[in-house]
Amino acid sequence: MKFVESIRIKRTMPCVADPTKIRVIANADRELGEILPYLDQRIPNALYSKNSGFLTYKRGVILITLHSTDEIAMTQITDENEAHTILGEIKDKINETFEERDQIDLTTPKKRVNVGPLDLYSYLPKTNCKECGEGTCMALAVMVLNQEKSLNDCPYLSEPKYKCARETLVMLLQSAGYEII
Ligand code: SF4
Repeated sequence: MKFVESIRIKRTMPCVADPTKIRVIANADRELGEILPYLDQRIPNALYSKNSGFLTYKRGVILITLHSTDEIAMTQITDENEAHTILGEIKDKINETFEERDQIDLTTPKKRVNVGPLDLYSYLPKTNCKECGEGTCMALAVMVLNQEKSLNDCPYLSEPKYKCARETLVMLLQSAGYEII
C-alpha cells in the first residue's frame, strides 16, 4: 500500500534567493504529518521540527520543505520539468519509507546538526543594509550564533517574502539546540 498516490503542483513563484529560479508549492493527496518523523530518520541531512510541523532538507542547492499538512515547498527550481522530477523522487522516498516504517527506530535521537554562520547567511537577505546594527548579514549570522543578537534584529525577515527563509532559519537554530523566542 502506498502512503501517497500523487503530488501535484499548486503554484509557482519567482524565487527570492535567485530570480532565474522558481519556488514551487505542491500538494500531496493526503496529510504528511504521520510520515515526517520516519523521513527524518531516513534522510541524513533532514531537519525536522515536530512543534512547527515541518521537515526540511537540501538536495544540492534546492531546499525542500515537507509540511505536516499536505503541502510541499521547493526553492531554487529551474523549471516545471525539474519540479515534476523532484516531486516524483519525493513521492518514491515517502512510499519507500512508509513500507519500511516498522524497521525504523523513532526512539533513537538524531545527532544535533552543526550550524555555522554560512548556513544562516544562506537564508538572510544578503543586502548588507546595516539596519540590524551589524555591518553585514554575515556579521549578524555570527552574532545570532553567539546569542548576542536574534533573527528579530533583521526587520526584513518579518516580511512575507522572507517567511520561508525565516522558518528555515528558526528550524536550523532549533535543530542545533538554540531556543528561539
Ligand atoms: S538588517 Fe538584515 S539584511 Fe540588513 S544587514 Fe542585517 S541581516 Fe542583512
